[in-house]
Amino acid sequence: MTIGIDMDDTICSTNERIIVEADKYDKEVLGGTGIKDINAYEFSEMMGWPEGMKGQFFSDRLEYIMDNAEIKPGAKDVINTLYDRGFNIIFISFRKGKYIKDPYKLTKNWLDRNGVKYTKIYVDTGSKVDECIKEGVNLFIDDKESHCEDVSSAGIDVLLFTNAYNHDEKRFRRVDTWNEVLDYVEEKYNG
Ligand SMILES: [Mg+2]
Repeated sequence: MTIGIDMDDTICSTNERIIVEADKYDKEVLGGTGIKDINAYEFSEMMGWPEGMKGQFFSDRLEYIMDNAEIKPGAKDVINTLYDRGFNIIFISFRKGKYIKDPYKLTKNWLDRNGVKYTKIYVDTGSKVDECIKEGVNLFIDDKESHCEDVSSAGIDVLLFTNAYNHDEKRFRRVDTWNEVLDYVEEKYNG
């Protein structure tokens, strides 16, 4: 039994960290006043940044943000429990080299530092369906609808991890917490 798991906003709270760091960046680097519209959909709209500022911010800070993103509550215990019960744990991340020197190393170091057990890591993926098929993934967990859609269309079971942007998505079984993942696996896969 093999479980494929996304990184950002599935196992770690990347978006929350982006907002905190964008607020700091606006005040400290750009001489701004920080968040202008807390209800905006996306962080660069929250900051009221012009086109192009997001790229500059990511070039300067994305590596630091991903390196320092907090692990989600329960993630370590649930994943390690499943690993210890014999499940293969494959991390499959879209993280690219565009703003990060070495996405594989960054991801591996973060997982090791946070004490998360795993079988294998993929970074710089496309839709993730190729990695899921290659690894014989039975269950795939991601917060991004498009990845769930592609992997699901290959006949693989998916769970959509709730994030700030996917509340309206109804096509996939949704989980809000890592304990719900454990319940689902125990119920459906006898884990
Ligand atoms: Mg994600």
